[in-house]
Amino acid sequence: MTSNEIKQLDSQNVMQTYGRFDVVIDRGVGSTVYSPEGKEYIDFTSGIGVNAIGYGNKKWGDAVYAQAMKLQHISNLYYSEPYAKLADVLTKRTGMKNVFFANAGADANEGMIKLARKYSFDKHGKGKSTIITLNQSFHGRTITTLAATGQDVFHNYFFPFTEGFKHVQANDIDALKKELTDDVCAVLIEFVQGEGGVIPLDPNYVKEVSQLCAANDLLLLADEVQTGVGRTGTLFAFQQYDVTPDVISFAKGIAGGLPLGGFMANEKCSTVLIAGTHATTFGGNPVAAAGAVEVLNQLDDATLNEVIKKSEYIREKIHGWNTPYIAEIRGKGLMLGISVKDVVPREIAQACVENGLLVLTAGTDALRMLPPLTISYEELDKGLAILKAVFDNI
Ligand SMILES: *Cc1c(COP(=O)(O)O)cnc(C)c1O
Repeated sequence: MTSNEIKQLDSQNVMQTYGRFDVVIDRGVGSTVYSPEGKEYIDFTSGIGVNAIGYGNKKWGDAVYAQAMKLQHISNLYYSEPYAKLADVLTKRTGMKNVFFANAGADANEGMIKLARKYSFDKHGKGKSTIITLNQSFHGRTITTLAATGQDVFHNYFFPFTEGFKHVQANDIDALKKELTDDVCAVLIEFVQGEGGVIPLDPNYVKEVSQLCAANDLLLLADEVQTGVGRTGTLFAFQQYDVTPDVISFAKGIAGGLPLGGFMANEKCSTVLIAGTHATTFGGNPVAAAGAVEVLNQLDDATLNEVIKKSEYIREKIHGWNTPYIAEIRGKGLMLGISVKDVVPREIAQACVENGLLVLTAGTDALRMLPPLTISYEELDKGLAILKAVFDNI
């Protein structure tokens, strides 16, 4: 089908819930994708941080195909190998104790929230169930994860939202201390706030949050749905902050493009969710899990170090540009935000798309780059040249 035919079919039959760019993507190789007519786009998005090892990855494709033909799904009422192997790799590489598999980020966070509330209920009984999250956070689109999300724009239309969330200013430890009332059971953070604008938390703040949690028997919950799976240059972002969360959620990049999410618990939280307390039909799907095992295989130390090097390479290049429209570059690894001034991020992203570069926006002021972690320097150079030309032509 042509791009126009696909767009027409979509507008006639699909709920128009996305502010889409006017582009149809048909296929990809490496970190480059193509429209049905063959127009080339350098991909600085990976979906939204999903295609961690790029497009057309042969070993990943082989692993997925082999598992699809062997056993594509079996109920979680039975044991099977792929997710057990995946859980083993995840616990070994993070030091966490065990894993629950979900399907995506929001339901992973839902499960993590359930775990925190049950941990507190088991220990203290009813009434200690409030979770503190940060302003500008993003935790998902279900009724509960919208309530957890610390941005007012998400608290519309769908009333009533789930009770039991309070939001405080990020990187302000006194603001958090003020809200630590007896009803609080956990604090939920993103190490780098993604949708909120690519805003990294200050390491000292994170350390203090962790100490406050430990001192008050509150759980420290980390939403690593976007920061996890190598995105920031370590397998999970907490490994760059001198803390260990009690529970960590993940999704986006884990299966290299297939839907999969989950959360990992430390020893203390590893037996909170028992048979009958949490479940999901597709969680830990064998095909997605087989893809995830291959993703983690490829995200070895050398590849993760390259993520940091590419991050520095991008920063240096952009710092060398002589444009008045860039205020700062922030983020970690290949999760970078370019905060712009006197221009609208979405309009820059639109101009990039027209010139052959896919790039995201975040918060109110930033362009967001989440390229495949395996992107080549040649593709980086091509993409950055397009971005520079767009700024030069404002
Ligand atoms: C994307 C995202 C989510 C939601 O994940 P879905 O897979 O879209 O449900 C939650 N938290 C963070 C930090 C995210 O970036």
